[in-house]
Amino acid sequence: MLAFKLIYSDGYDLNLGDHVFPAVKYKLIREKCLAEKIAGPEDFLEPEAAPDEDILRVHSQEWVRKLKTGKLSPAEVLRLEVPYSPQLVRAFWLSAGGSTLAARRALADGCSFNFGGGFHHAFPDHGEGFCAIHDVAVSIRALQARGAIGTALVVDLDVHHGNGTAAIFGGDPSVFTLSMHQENNYPYPKPPSDLDVGLPDFTSDETYLRLLREALAQAFERFAKEASPLLPEAGASGLGGSRITGHGARATPDLIWYLAGADPYQEDQLGGLALTKEGLAERDSIVFEAARSRRIPIAITFAGGYARQVQDTVTIHTNTILAAQGVFRSSA
Ligand SMILES: [Zn+2]
Repeated sequence: MLAFKLIYSDGYDLNLGDHVFPAVKYKLIREKCLAEKIAGPEDFLEPEAAPDEDILRVHSQEWVRKLKTGKLSPAEVLRLEVPYSPQLVRAFWLSAGGSTLAARRALADGCSFNFGGGFHHAFPDHGEGFCAIHDVAVSIRALQARGAIGTALVVDLDVHHGNGTAAIFGGDPSVFTLSMHQENNYPYPKPPSDLDVGLPDFTSDETYLRLLREALAQAFERFAKEASPLLPEAGASGLGGSRITGHGARATPDLIWYLAGADPYQEDQLGGLALTKEGLAERDSIVFEAARSRRIPIAITFAGGYARQVQDTVTIHTNTILAAQGVFRSSA
């Protein structure tokens, strides 16, 4: 039995047919977890679709209406890069509900995974790059609205820049966004995150992991400085429970969202970095250790992954679960 919950639904399948996005991966990861006894059926939770009220905290009425009624223009479908279907829309709503559930479970258990989601290219008024609804943003806004969190840190390690995340949270000091990505890759342009680390092509494990450690340290340091004015007074509970912890009264985010894309892998069809499976597993451990050592709850979504062999993508994502188990079992 795992020390945390895995959020999964058969409805996460985006109904894409023969497409570079392997929507079947969600189901395959679940099967691998069960077959290899990494998790039992009791470790899985089934999400409900996010209520429109939650979706509308991030997305425009017009975009939501178009998605729900199938009234996207040909140009909008082209930009989305996935074929429109009611099942696709259902999958996005379910993924947003799943991310909200994962964030809530992370607050309760310290950690939780949403298998679906990580749709970081979705903007308030349009979708692109396989992403129509920004599930992570929906979950953060839902928890903020309910007073469950005040602040959050988004750590986006998908190979592609988190342009939707940057656009949604730009100018909002309650959410610090870190994106570490391949610079010479989609999307163009890249609206600024709070901290962007644009990597050169073919970046290796060693360089990547060193830059990741530096970026995380910088993100926590800057969060402590930039979010401190949000907190009413040192030692008091801030926006819905923001905490000041440790020596020197340093503020830490109430929640970390980790987008653990499998696409920095060297065999990825849509990525151009040179990470190995071992390097990616080390990456995961670094992020989990950063959360655990600061006692910050962490929610994880798998985001992208387009390895030539879908089994490689499935293995990399499953390894992320194992890395979390390694870090959080010992501290449970
Ligand atoms: Zn990606």
